[in-house]
Amino acid sequence: MGRLTSVRAAVMTEIVGLTVMDCIFCKIVAGQLPACKVYEDADTLAFMDIGPIVPGHTLVIPKTHVDPLTAAPPEVLQKLILVVQRIARAQIKAFKADGINVIQSNGQAAGQVVPHLHFHVIPRFAADGHHWNWKAHPYAQPEDMRAMAEKIKVALG
Ligand code: AMP
Ligand code: ZN
Repeated sequence: MGRLTSVRAAVMTEIVGLTVMDCIFCKIVAGQLPACKVYEDADTLAFMDIGPIVPGHTLVIPKTHVDPLTAAPPEVLQKLILVVQRIARAQIKAFKADGINVIQSNGQAAGQVVPHLHFHVIPRFAADGHHWNWKAHPYAQPEDMRAMAEKIKVALG
């Protein structure tokens, strides 16, 4: 970890001190809770999810307490996504996975349970039996879609 990154990490830890004390993923990083680790470097940790959707399901987290995705500093996110890619490649090699899902949830409404930024990297197999309850809800009118697109574009600035 560079000096600037470690100073920023210390400041972030200070700011979110109470959250960090309660955060199970921070406790895993600190060695206060056990985890089945598969990869670790100065900034990033990957470990097995204890409630796998499919066997091999792995979580990738930054070692500093960051949440949600929208608050993540670019340098944290850049390192994280490269480890996500490495884990996905390793799952394909290790398990001969037919596919990979990468899931990242933010907020209770999105189903997030642990409020510490994490990517789920899930190996998928043609016959793994898992099905997302993914229902499309088409726009009533094409202009409804265009209106939403316009709002996103305005927000992007
Ligand atoms: P999310 O719903 O995106 O917040 O996902 C949180 C994930 O963390 C779930 O899939 C849990 O199974 C997993 N999880 C919770 N506690 C632990 C733990 N101590 N070790 C490993 N995985 C955990
Ligand atoms: Zn945390």
